[in-house]
Amino acid sequence: WSRTPESNLTAPGLPPQDEEDAGGVFLDLSELPVEESERRPTCSRCCRPEKVCLCPFLPVDPLEVSTCLYIVQHPAEESRVLRTVPLLAACLPKGKCNVLVGRRFNEERHPELAAVCRDKHTLILYPGSDAENLEDLGRDFTTSPHNVIIIDGTWSQAKDMFLRNALFRLPKQVQLNSAPSSQYVIRTQPTNMCLSTLECAAVTLSIMERNQAIQEVLLKPLRALCSFQLQHGAQVHHSKEHLLKNGLYDKPMPKNKRKIKRMQKLITNQNI
Ligand SMILES: [Zn+2]
Repeated sequence: WSRTPESNLTAPGLPPQDEEDAGGVFLDLSELPVEESERRPTCSRCCRPEKVCLCPFLPVDPLEVSTCLYIVQHPAEESRVLRTVPLLAACLPKGKCNVLVGRRFNEERHPELAAVCRDKHTLILYPGSDAENLEDLGRDFTTSPHNVIIIDGTWSQAKDMFLRNALFRLPKQVQLNSAPSSQYVIRTQPTNMCLSTLECAAVTLSIMERNQAIQEVLLKPLRALCSFQLQHGAQVHHSKEHLLKNGLYDKPMPKNKRKIKRMQKLITNQNI
């Protein structure tokens, strides 16, 4: 590891220096009685509570792609409030977005994943000195369908999963070169690792399918999700302020104003 992870604004997730901040914001959001306590009907397509269903922001028909994604998801991601992998899956045809939850994967218990890892048409998205830029591979992904493995977790979870699963060292390791658009999104996105996974998938697919429109379609529900979370965040900020003013609040105020501004920027920017 001659290059530090910080030098990569690529998949999966954010540089570590933002991670604690991100965790802070995330915890602030997760404290809210927004989704956790709302045991209300859930939309079967986007897996969101029906009240905040994001289906209007999803494509009517699944995107036609030849690339097959394998999202290996750290168990902690599954229970996160902001889950974006279901959105990704909802945008893609059945079978093109496979999610496997776990920390350790091996031949015995995961023969299908093992076979995918051995396939020469499989790439794993994980930045580092051994990774080649996906943009520079010079392969025609449209004539020979490829698989891409993406690790879904915080930076440290992803690192642990990559280093400790020998299977993940089998496929060619690739990273996303800082395309101006993705860089902007990653810098301004509201710092949840799941969001980053969705972004990475969006950029990856648009490169491999040679179709920039894919990125736009996949980022649409992400923007909507940010918008919802921003509304919730704003409400909570207000209510905490209210509690504070009334001497009822005993926790420190969240320090997420900067993050909220970033989210606002993301939502209002239409040129990503
Ligand atoms: Zn829905």
